[in-house]
Amino acid sequence: MTFNPDSNISGGKVSRRSRGAGMAVGGGGILALILAIASPLLGVDLTPLSGMFGGGAGDQSQNQPADDLDECQTGADANSNVACLMKGAAASLDAYWSGKFAQEGISYRSPAGFVLFSGSTSTGCGTASSATGPFYCPNDETIYVDTSFFDELRNQFGANGGPLAEMYVVAHEWGHHIQKVLGTMDNLNLQQTGPTSDSVRLELQADCYGGSWMKDASTVPDSSGVAFLQPITKAQINDALNAASVIGDDRIQEQATGQSNPETWTHGSSDERVKWLTIGFENGPGACTTFDGNP
Ligand SMILES: [Zn+2]
Repeated sequence: MTFNPDSNISGGKVSRRSRGAGMAVGGGGILALILAIASPLLGVDLTPLSGMFGGGAGDQSQNQPADDLDECQTGADANSNVACLMKGAAASLDAYWSGKFAQEGISYRSPAGFVLFSGSTSTGCGTASSATGPFYCPNDETIYVDTSFFDELRNQFGANGGPLAEMYVVAHEWGHHIQKVLGTMDNLNLQQTGPTSDSVRLELQADCYGGSWMKDASTVPDSSGVAFLQPITKAQINDALNAASVIGDDRIQEQATGQSNPETWTHGSSDERVKWLTIGFENGPGACTTFDGNP
């Protein structure tokens, strides 16, 4: 999936925190470290055991000036730079979901933030590090992504990569925000694990919401009526399905330990993740009924 070069992505709400931000004051880093140990991250994430490979730790990511995102103005920028791709995805996802909510007559609110970080950063859900993987914090309604995860996705998880696979990561986290806004997260038991647990149902629904956006993304217009994205190609959808597949619980457990333990699953198997992404892609968000019956 490629951006129309002349589409306007300047409205995408993304900010950047540079490596070590918040640690400049003496001792802050140690305090953050203590807090990280004392309070496990409470967000909802993309990968079941993210960081188990040691994480990218941001080694590959460059420390860019905080204002580089201001230079992301057009679809052409999104096609040439991963930070701009994130900004473009945010612009498209925001327009898509605000349109869907309007159709249903319900009020939409954008995520309070979408933060690109490297190294570590403090969040409303505790301290996040690169090893945490992309996640959504319901407490501050903010999406956190270290884009070095995309390197990890290819190099450690063995994904094909590609722009749609990377945008699927954002679309999945945006799906968690939709769940927060709709109240889906209320009264769930997210300590529960296993193939029919609330955790797995929540994650598969976020995959399905990601697929829903892909279905309509090439028709979502920017503020002047230019579609953000060109029609999705078969190769691109295969890349997104491949990304969903490599981060299935069974695949990751087998890769790590040689066996899969379904009772500990938190995100769903490779097959289920692919299945629900496909259901969303073919049928839209109304079909994302992962809380009914067996997901
Ligand atoms: Zn998730």
